[in-house]
Amino acid sequence: MTQVSVFSLGTWVTWGDQVDEELAYALARTAYAAGVNFFDTAEIYAGGVAETLLGAVIARGIADGVWTRADLVVSTKLFFGDKSSDRPNRRGLSRKHITQGLSASLARLGLDYVDIIYAHRADFQTPLSETVAAFSAAIDRGQALYWGTSMWPAARITAALDEAAATGRAPPVVEQPEYNLFTRKRVEVEYAPFTALRDTGGGVEATTAPRRTLGLTIWSPLADGVLTNKYAGGAAPAGSRMALGRSAAAGERLFRGADRYKVDAAAALAAALPRLGLADVSVTQVALAWTVASPAVSSCILGATSVAQLEENLGAMAVVPRLTPAVLTEVDKLMEPFVGG
Ligand code: NDP
Repeated sequence: MTQVSVFSLGTWVTWGDQVDEELAYALARTAYAAGVNFFDTAEIYAGGVAETLLGAVIARGIADGVWTRADLVVSTKLFFGDKSSDRPNRRGLSRKHITQGLSASLARLGLDYVDIIYAHRADFQTPLSETVAAFSAAIDRGQALYWGTSMWPAARITAALDEAAATGRAPPVVEQPEYNLFTRKRVEVEYAPFTALRDTGGGVEATTAPRRTLGLTIWSPLADGVLTNKYAGGAAPAGSRMALGRSAAAGERLFRGADRYKVDAAAALAAALPRLGLADVSVTQVALAWTVASPAVSSCILGATSVAQLEENLGAMAVVPRLTPAVLTEVDKLMEPFVGG
């Protein structure tokens, strides 16, 4: 079983948009030095540029003797297509897009294989049997080692597991859902049957170690950065995600619309830290540590636009043991009015 680090590094919005190759390399090296072995991207991120940058960074690290390909777990995702996604056969989870799209991603990454290929969303236009067969074939060709889902309804995952078992094809082994102090239900309720430990022991060949059906690699642990409390002033600081043109609608919702409560919640959590015995750590670190305190979470994918941000975020690891059951209960109580879907 491939092992992923508790924190991983993602590339959405950042790499190819806010982050150039020099900064990307510095971020990846900082992460790797702190124990991160898992890097996440997707065909759609920056229209394919994020994959190109990740490939360049991996190659530089190999050339500089920082890491080898064997040390890294690399994932990408298919569904939304790349820059040409307006063409109907360059998106979705058909056999054609899984085959052609994965080859295109590997070319941008400059890699022979990715460790994990994710179905970035469910595709209800394509028969599930075709999707399962196509991912399984990609694994048989050696272009990916595992496949996973992202934001699939639990029933669709169950159907994929059943289809794979019935046909002897590779099953999905990991899901990539949103999970943060505001968005909890899918991980804690809907996916609970997949993340419960099950005893696989008993047979001569069976391992006696308990295992989960699916690992979870969770995204937006800071809810787009809101849980840093950086938006407490009621406006987006220059250079922040909410100040980007692409985030205009999200900024409008956050400062004047339905998401206004998130700014208040981050401020309330920050104000409560001294009472929780956490006066010496940032609300950012508490929010990140909270995600990985869940036994269901295999890896929390971090996003960062500077080395300083990433260092602060990686420091959350030291905060995890301080989130005792009593502290977690207090955090739950405090956040209860703010939890959404
Ligand atoms: P977060 O919610 O943690 O947001 C990260 C952003 O918050 C950073 O880019 C930065 O933005 C800000 N930030 C982070 N740390 C700090 C800090 N210490 N101080 C101040 N600001 C900070 O995660 P993302 O939304 O970026 O998601 C992480 C990864 O998950 C993505 O890169 C991607 O790989 C994956 N993902 C997967 C999805 C899926 O559908 N499967 C969907 C979304 C993401 P800024 O400086 O610009 O304000």
